[in-house]
Amino acid sequence: MKESLLMKKDSLWKTLDENEINEALEFAEEYKMFIDHGKTERTCFKEMVNASKAQGFRLMDEVLSDSQPLKTGDKVYFTNKEKALILAVIGSEPLEKGMNLLGTHVDSPRLDLKPVPFYEEKDLALAKTHYYGGVKKYQWVTIPLAMHGVITKENGEEIHLTIGENPEDPVFMITDLLPHLSKDQMEKKMSEGITGEGLNVLLGNRTLKEGQEKDKVKGYLLQTLYQEYGLKEEDFSFAEIQFVPAGKARDIGFDRSMIAAYGQDDRVCAYAALRGIFSVEKPKKTAVAVFVDKEEVGSQSNSGMESRFFQNAVEELLTLQKEESFTAYGRALSGTKALSGDVMSAFDPNYPDVLDPRNSCYLGKGVNISRYTGSRGKSGCNDANHEFLREIRSIFNGKNISWQMGELGKVDQGGGGTIAYIIGNQNGEVVDCGVPMLSMHAPYEVISKVDLYMTYRAYFEFLENAE
Ligand code: MN
Ligand code: MN
Repeated sequence: MKESLLMKKDSLWKTLDENEINEALEFAEEYKMFIDHGKTERTCFKEMVNASKAQGFRLMDEVLSDSQPLKTGDKVYFTNKEKALILAVIGSEPLEKGMNLLGTHVDSPRLDLKPVPFYEEKDLALAKTHYYGGVKKYQWVTIPLAMHGVITKENGEEIHLTIGENPEDPVFMITDLLPHLSKDQMEKKMSEGITGEGLNVLLGNRTLKEGQEKDKVKGYLLQTLYQEYGLKEEDFSFAEIQFVPAGKARDIGFDRSMIAAYGQDDRVCAYAALRGIFSVEKPKKTAVAVFVDKEEVGSQSNSGMESRFFQNAVEELLTLQKEESFTAYGRALSGTKALSGDVMSAFDPNYPDVLDPRNSCYLGKGVNISRYTGSRGKSGCNDANHEFLREIRSIFNGKNISWQMGELGKVDQGGGGTIAYIIGNQNGEVVDCGVPMLSMHAPYEVISKVDLYMTYRAYFEFLENAE
């Protein structure tokens, strides 16, 4: 049998030349700075808006006030609720013929503060949390946590909190039981060993010296919050505060080939998409990159992909290109080609039982294409059409993009979803395509630097070349 008949996938560490590897390593350093600053959807949003402005993107509201029609190569952005962002580079073809779209999300699993969080018990001050997204609760105890968020004083002054990221900051922590007394806990199912109501964050031990008898530790905590930030307990009931793993992204391995960091699902694809659209100059089809919130909780509400925000943005683009009509939006979406940029769980030698090695992706072998997601017989998934998949194949093979085909584990082992189906429901062609990952949704997730680089290149070639 001829070698060339076989589908063979080599590691990029073997196939890329020295220059490309150096480029990938440099790209990874820039990425690490991005995720170190973007540890929440809001801070990611800020990072992305600043980077986009520096690349010459203009806020759509400013563009509208010039009342000049948009022309090929113009770069615009739309913001939504300080959490979601759309970037567009105007193409030479009418938008009504469709756009080339990248869709990613910037929210990640974490612990949110409950509306009435603070309490005291046995000389300890603690905070109640409600977890956000799919977390394995036992992973979130005994690791340093940082507090991030936005809160407004009664007088209207808005404060952005970041506590626990600088070496001189304090951090926060959830305790676990010592092994010596864990006989009952260790016999429980892993899903029950640490409970949702047990995810209470340790905040303080120091007490007020005088004054009230009750709640002296909580009192000291509230006094500190007032002295340092001017905040009262009630302010927290209206705030958005989250706890995330403290600290920066780190290289993994003697060879520094991988990155461990919090929130790489899906900020790694978001970053690749951001850099991908930054590289687009004068496309034929309008290139669009969408960065949304709330994917980890089902994409609902105004900052999620289900929001009307996306349609509003496309309609504004159509209006500014004098293409408004009853049918323009529907036609634009029907002609749209999209990559839903999201991470995919890669083959993990520690857990072979749940993975089909022939249909898994692997760290270091390039951007992953995931034709469908869903669970129990593809339920709830977007199942990409053959005609679109063959176009992806021809773009990727034509542009030397190293790709692999992976699905989310063995049939009936579980499942998951992305924002792909939402674009599909709007009648666009879409397939999931992103970075392979180990330990997805854990406090620290792992990716390979060459996969990030290849994903960026794949996204760029897709924006430039999809027909
Ligand atoms: Mn994701
Ligand atoms: Mn996820």
